Amino acid sequence: MKIDVMGVQFDNVTMEEAVAQARGILDGGAAHYCVTPNPEIVYEAMHDSSFCRLLNGAALVLPDGVGVLLGAKILGTPLRARVSGVDFAAALLPVLAAAGKRLYLLGAKPGVAELAAEKMRAANPGLCICGTADGYFQDEGPVVQAVREAEADVVFVCLGSPKQEKFMAAHLDELGASLLMGLGGSLDAFAGTVKRAPAWVSRIGMEWFYRLVKEPRRFKRMLRLPKFVFAVVGRRLGGGRHG
Ligand code: UDP
Repeated sequence: MKIDVMGVQFDNVTMEEAVAQARGILDGGAAHYCVTPNPEIVYEAMHDSSFCRLLNGAALVLPDGVGVLLGAKILGTPLRARVSGVDFAAALLPVLAAAGKRLYLLGAKPGVAELAAEKMRAANPGLCICGTADGYFQDEGPVVQAVREAEADVVFVCLGSPKQEKFMAAHLDELGASLLMGLGGSLDAFAGTVKRAPAWVSRIGMEWFYRLVKEPRRFKRMLRLPKFVFAVVGRRLGGGRHG
């Protein structure tokens, strides 16, 4: 079942259900992509209909960030669970290891994907990481070819938004993988180059504030968060306007 949050159609799933759906996609063989919009991304989609269509074209649209859950609640159609991209990716790793699936890590600064690969392998014995590449390429062609030649089943596409969503939609069939996952800064989190908020901070819904304190350069971008909440409240009160 889908829940509409300001035009973006989220899957109303728990983590276990999301992982089961990903497993189904891998067994099915056809290529699909998955997105993990946070409020900033939803706000972007509210002002860019082609980007919004691109998000809604994903096989799985998972709510990353408490702001999306808050928005859904205000709109009177609460989502069951927050399924953040990085947690979803972590939950999928043992499944990939057990199934012998090949994972490619694409994105982040040079060296980060390799470091993330080391940590992932250490935590998930048997996990096959068939290739890595940084996300600061000029030309997409050679990257697409490298992923294709690596014969990946799954690609973690961590280029930031909207670059990663556009990349996945544009190259869905060329990459040769069954599942592409747009995961923002997740490789930094796996590598440990950017520390995640402690669990208790996440639990009380303040992860966004932790990130703001740690990475003040995000301030301007984060202003979309209150704008998103205002727009949601406006929608609920019957304004019907997006901005
Ligand atoms: N990034 C990239 N190529 C680019 C721009 C960004 O690989 O051209 C990476 C960046 O290094 C970071 C990730 O994309 O690892 C985006 O992280 P951010 O925290 O901005 O994304 P979010 O998780 O908030 O979507």
